[in-house]
Amino acid sequence: MFNHKSVDIAVLGAGPVGLTAAHTLADEGMDFVLLDREKRANIHSYALALHPETLELLDTLGIIDPILKNAHRIRRSTIFDNTQKQRAVIDYGELPVKYPFLAVIGQNELEDILVKTLADKGHHPLWRHRARCIEPNPDHVAFTVDRLTEGMTGYAVAHMETEIDKIFEYKANYLIAADGYNSMARRAAGIIYPEIARSMDYAIFEFETNARLLTEMRMIVETNKTHIYWPLGDGRCRFSFQMKPGFAKHSSFNKDHELMDHKAQHAPELSNMHLDHLLEKHAPWFVGSSSDVKWRAMVHFEKHLADQFGKDRIWLAGDAAHMAPPAGILSMNVGMHEAADLAKRLCTDDSDDVRQFRLHAYNADRMGEWQRLLDMNHHVIGHDATAAWLLEHRENVIGNIPASGESLAAVLKQLHLTEAA
Ligand SMILES: Cc1cc2nc3c(=O)[nH]c(=O)nc-3n(C[C@H](O)[C@H](O)[C@H](O)COP(=O)(O)OP(=O)(O)OC[C@H]3O[C@@H](n4cnc5c(N)ncnc54)[C@H](O)[C@@H]3O)c2cc1C
Repeated sequence: MFNHKSVDIAVLGAGPVGLTAAHTLADEGMDFVLLDREKRANIHSYALALHPETLELLDTLGIIDPILKNAHRIRRSTIFDNTQKQRAVIDYGELPVKYPFLAVIGQNELEDILVKTLADKGHHPLWRHRARCIEPNPDHVAFTVDRLTEGMTGYAVAHMETEIDKIFEYKANYLIAADGYNSMARRAAGIIYPEIARSMDYAIFEFETNARLLTEMRMIVETNKTHIYWPLGDGRCRFSFQMKPGFAKHSSFNKDHELMDHKAQHAPELSNMHLDHLLEKHAPWFVGSSSDVKWRAMVHFEKHLADQFGKDRIWLAGDAAHMAPPAGILSMNVGMHEAADLAKRLCTDDSDDVRQFRLHAYNADRMGEWQRLLDMNHHVIGHDATAAWLLEHRENVIGNIPASGESLAAVLKQLHLTEAA
């Protein structure tokens, strides 16, 4: 029943971050395996926008065309207060980048494209392969992988149950942990994942409408809350309303792999009536139909940052290392860069010492980047009225800005903010 496997690099998790690592390793001709316990990619839009720098990354991976073909481009983000007064604007068209816009594309569509284009490179995620018992050793990482199947069971009422069909014992030189916020690999490495700020509960609605939709992403900031509007193209939009603490269950961040969430369909807090009430209260500028809701969810977003990005032979990228507030789509976008960077650092014919040296630099770079993105040292400053208002609402704004990488400084400048040296 047992099967022994050896591989240079194991990538755990075929979300957007693990898939990006796999693309990079495939391009470099490395020996790797990509494992995921689910049976397919996501089926919901979750994190739905790509930053200009992420588009450049996808360009270097040779997969920009299908992304742009399926994405809706937006050139502006705005920040409003709760009296509906515009407080700040980000104009992506002004940035000195190859792709001066946000590409709005459902995470499900993005993952589908990443899977299909990976297949063109001759690689496939091993779906229904669940890792467990991850054990770091001085010269390798050992772990068990269950290959899962679904079997029909039950007498009076038949239902599907997950069964283990085969067990593999893996040995890898390195493990890229892209296994999401509840990362088993992170725990096996003994890395701490503290909560660094208050969690936020959201009611999310995606619907088709006859309204003339704004062509910008908009944040509506009020004391202790940030509501978010995204145009999705084709007469669709998403509103995410921040609710009182306790609104959503902690488990709501688990990815739902069924098309229809029956509980959400019938939750009064997610009813069409409640949506209309929220629109009237927080987005009175929205005028149009809202009854054709395609997806509704209550989500509990936490804010975490790992105390290090890896140890010895287990290295983290994406949600396994951080969780940020939803408007900025930081965790996924920055996570995809981390995955590509991490994979590249492992692509070398040099000795293990050289790899270890490069990996330690990865840790330092990533910690520095996240301290900057979340402004953990309060380096962001500004002196005029726009800056003063944004800094007064720093908790709602920082980490929610849809920008990363080289563009961040220019975007902060557009917001009348700057980073102190
Ligand atoms: C309802 C919801 C709404 C969201 N909305 C937003 C939003 O508006 N803005 C935003 O920025 N973010 C949002 N997110 C978060 C966003 O989806 C994540 O930031 C993104 O998915 C992170 O990508 P990742 O590849 O790091 O992790 P994931 O996408 O979580 O991928 C991890 C993968 O690892 C696999 N895995 C885990 N453990 C194992 C194991 N032991 N063995 C094998 N495979 C394993 C999982 O099956 C999964 O496919 C939302 C998430 C949810 C659930």
